[in-house]
Amino acid sequence: MKDIKEIFGSFVFDDEVMKERLPDDTYLILKTAIDERKSIDHSIADTVAEAMKEWAIEKGATHFTHWFQPMTDITAEKHDSFISRAKDGKVMLEFSGKELIKGEPDASSFPSGGLRATFEARGYTAWDPSSYAFVKDGTLCIPTAFCSYGGEALDQKTPLLRSMDAVNRQAMRIVKLFGMNDVKHVNTMVGPEQEYFLVDRELFNKRPDLVFCGRTLLGAKPPKGQEMEDHYFGVIRPRVAAFMRDLDRKLWELGVMAKTEHNEAAPAQHELAPIFTNTNIAADHNQLTMEIMKKTAEDHGLVCLLHEKPFAGVNGSGKHNNWSLCTDTGVNFLKPGKSASSNNLFLLTLAAVIKAVDEHQDLLRISIASAGNDLRLGAAEAPPAIISMYLGDELDSLLESIIKGEHHNDVNKTNMSVGTEIIPFIRKDNTDRNRTSPFAFTGNKFEFRMLGSSASISDTNVMLNTIIADAFCEFADALEKSNDFENDVKSLIKDTISAHRRIIFNGDGYSDEWKAEAKKRGLLNLPDTATALPLLSREENTKLFARHGVFNETEVKCREEIRLENYCKTLHIEALTLLEMIKRDVIPAISSYTDTLCSCICRKRKADNYIDCSVEETLARRLSEENAQLLILSDKLKSEIEKANDRANITDCASYYHDTVLSLMNEIREISDNAESEVKRDFWPYPTYDDLLFKI
Ligand code: ADP
Ligand code: MG
Repeated sequence: MKDIKEIFGSFVFDDEVMKERLPDDTYLILKTAIDERKSIDHSIADTVAEAMKEWAIEKGATHFTHWFQPMTDITAEKHDSFISRAKDGKVMLEFSGKELIKGEPDASSFPSGGLRATFEARGYTAWDPSSYAFVKDGTLCIPTAFCSYGGEALDQKTPLLRSMDAVNRQAMRIVKLFGMNDVKHVNTMVGPEQEYFLVDRELFNKRPDLVFCGRTLLGAKPPKGQEMEDHYFGVIRPRVAAFMRDLDRKLWELGVMAKTEHNEAAPAQHELAPIFTNTNIAADHNQLTMEIMKKTAEDHGLVCLLHEKPFAGVNGSGKHNNWSLCTDTGVNFLKPGKSASSNNLFLLTLAAVIKAVDEHQDLLRISIASAGNDLRLGAAEAPPAIISMYLGDELDSLLESIIKGEHHNDVNKTNMSVGTEIIPFIRKDNTDRNRTSPFAFTGNKFEFRMLGSSASISDTNVMLNTIIADAFCEFADALEKSNDFENDVKSLIKDTISAHRRIIFNGDGYSDEWKAEAKKRGLLNLPDTATALPLLSREENTKLFARHGVFNETEVKCREEIRLENYCKTLHIEALTLLEMIKRDVIPAISSYTDTLCSCICRKRKADNYIDCSVEETLARRLSEENAQLLILSDKLKSEIEKANDRANITDCASYYHDTVLSLMNEIREISDNAESEVKRDFWPYPTYDDLLFKI
């Protein structure tokens, strides 16, 4: 492999390339705009576009596209070639500033949740200079925001940028109060860990459920699951290792800091973690990562499954959103430093996060709600649907002292020996980890673990940023009036922590006791998407978003609508797929096998000597009964699906899909999985869980 330094970012129009290729004054204007997050001067667009085009052509590009993120959790592109007609009638290559800044894809084919009815079908994409352009598959990709004719956000980037502005505005007020006058900007930083499964492509193609839904709707459990815990961090198999090497290389070329690759807990499950960066870029890079994962898997005869729960009974996949706040001068608000108890900026920020998470449990829950994630949350492997925070023993005892008004002795990292001289001492962290907590403090950042693996990280970070901005805003309002900052900041920290303590839970989040305890504490438990999503447009939430300029009321309503619609559509497709599988493959397979058993019984009965056929009889009877049940239930499913559209509104429709359609699907699955474990292997129409999970 070429030198990593040479490969890294080689397909990105980044700062280094800009500096080299743009005239000094243009570079300075652009760089200042990016660093200070200010509007760029349109007059430089033509110069930037020309330099971008020249560079992209050298990288093999023939086309350009505005690269945007409609509300589908995946990215969209509309390619145009650079060619245009010159005055002499010949072909020339062109890319203007206008084309760089603005695009006009037809918005009518993307979800708009009703915005389209009130506004024109026209949609605009607009250049986001704060995320570098890059060349991918011979196309210059320009990261853009996507909005309606009326300026309403139709994408996932726009609200994210607005929420980053909101945090910056409020955090700057806090920074000023602490006398940090050299700070120009506060950014939220994110490092999203991404989990995924790899399965063999040929096997994948034989399963309509994987092809249409990204998850298995049927499948008996294999004799061996993940109980031996021999896959987690296990040696990476050669085929997978080759995939990972290839993936790293492609991501590095695109400037994505892919850092850690390892096997995850479930067989065939893996994880990739990049080095953290500012939230906008982290979100763009995570989209790219998911896309490149899928493409690279294809090159290796594999399919990358990003679904939250591809296999029942086996761990699902999520994303861990590692989140912190950082000034442009490099101060991390969430770093406790040598003495946490006297670090007021840290404690105030901690208090803000505790308050924000407690007051807006619904928003965090909603931000990760999807049909796929419903199958994962609350199981024995993922955080429960209840939001709580883990701080660890050290911080917990510090908060305890603050509440009681007692002195606290900070504990610093200690040395630890593993009990043999040859292994050097290692530095021990102050707190152990708690893998069961949805929202855990991990030393200098918070790790929100509830995100689904296929979703964009934008929704969650929009919520996080907005609720922190709101808490900071309230704090700044109070402290800016203070005459005794030192004392007032201390009492604000104390009062806030005392008021919101119930959200902190350091025990086992997977246990049933916690569910009961959480209920006693009055914490929200929104078990599924159909229950969670309708809370998004509560008046309190709409006002919060409006207050910080993140969404207007129409935008909130439209997002709720789109996500509920998406939930219904997902379950609709799943139900139809299941129906088809059961009727066209499973019932005939069981029938064929029963037929074979019956022929065998006939032959045995006709034989001159008595041959026992009780095994065949019992099996044939049992399978026939199960098959009859499958037919009855799938007929019922068919008629229930047809009734779904009779609901008065989308909220009722979502509840109907959850309560009626999904539970019927589960019933069907149980019978089919039972039958699968009794039907002779070569009669079963699909690759089994054993094949999919253990034969990579
Ligand atoms: P773990 O989850 O095992 O603690 P790491 O500490 O390596 O793993 O961090 C996981 C992710 O968190 C990585 O993507 C890393 O870049 C990111 N991360 C580390 N520090 C910060 C920070 N201050 N802010 C945001 N993300 C961070
Ligand atoms: Mg982690």
